[in-house]
Amino acid sequence: MSRRALASALASRVGLLELLERVALRPALIVLVYHRIARPEDCAFDRNVIEATPDQFDEQMGMLRRRHSVVGPAELRDILERPSTLRHPRVAVTFDDGYRDNYAVAFPILKSHGLQALFFVPTHFVGSLDLTWWDRIAYAVRHTKRSELRLEYPSSVTVRVDGSNRDPAVKEVLRAFKAGGHADELRFFEMLERASGEAMPREARERQFFSWDEAVEMERAGMGIGSHTHSHRILSGLSAEEQRRECAESRGALRERNLAFGDCLAYPVGGPEAFSDETKRHARDTGYRFAFSNYGGINLAGRIDPFDVKRIGMDLGETASQLRFRLAASASAGRAAW
Ligand SMILES: [Zn+2]
Repeated sequence: MSRRALASALASRVGLLELLERVALRPALIVLVYHRIARPEDCAFDRNVIEATPDQFDEQMGMLRRRHSVVGPAELRDILERPSTLRHPRVAVTFDDGYRDNYAVAFPILKSHGLQALFFVPTHFVGSLDLTWWDRIAYAVRHTKRSELRLEYPSSVTVRVDGSNRDPAVKEVLRAFKAGGHADELRFFEMLERASGEAMPREARERQFFSWDEAVEMERAGMGIGSHTHSHRILSGLSAEEQRRECAESRGALRERNLAFGDCLAYPVGGPEAFSDETKRHARDTGYRFAFSNYGGINLAGRIDPFDVKRIGMDLGETASQLRFRLAASASAGRAAW
């Protein structure tokens, strides 16, 4: 049993969970971020972006509905506009990347619980067969016949490839790529093709991302569609002009389709090194009013940065009761519990 599972099992046995939930009265906005809802065994690409199976997501949403005050995109934006109205813990659900399973799987589950979420899309990928850089990298690592990959760029790293479980190797290669600041994607891809002996496809056989029509349908049903830039490049590694273009192009595409949450942005990758004060300025100047990061943390009333709205990540395998405990512990401690 993992430490997290053990802690939550103990907490529920001794009644600590109920106690925490009764005293967890700090006014805080807790924003969850998911990427994909799928069964890992069905995924030929990067499984690390799957944070729940359909059944787990259904259970988690049921728990949120019963135990928490969940806000949809409109209320979430109201809180960010007027943080003084935040009087007790509120939870919001967000998704990054716009994968097709967000529409096909998550959307009906959310509706069945009467919940709404905000979905951030990289507008270049909407409705397309294109593979993202992390899915292309994952494909090469999942399909290589080599037992180790000698990466030469952006730094020298040797990654061991386990025959049966490729997920740790995928994670390690992605980490090496991201550590390089995303400077030269093509050079990294060519190097990885040589190192793995695998050609990296540009496109998948099936559509990977939900379409504009589907996005409009989701907004009509109370969901929100926000921006995740245009092509999902890490903003801090780009020139000022490229950063502005990434922000502006996406803002324009959402505006053109009258999507109501196009003034909300989520920084690609979202770690503290993925955006800077300069990035925040570009986001503001190109018409965004709020921007979400992704490196943990909850937003306490009175301490909300509208261009660094904190979100907490999800983990595949976390049960609804473990999530319940994590949220209660975070809301009572005033910071992300783990
Ligand atoms: Zn993303």
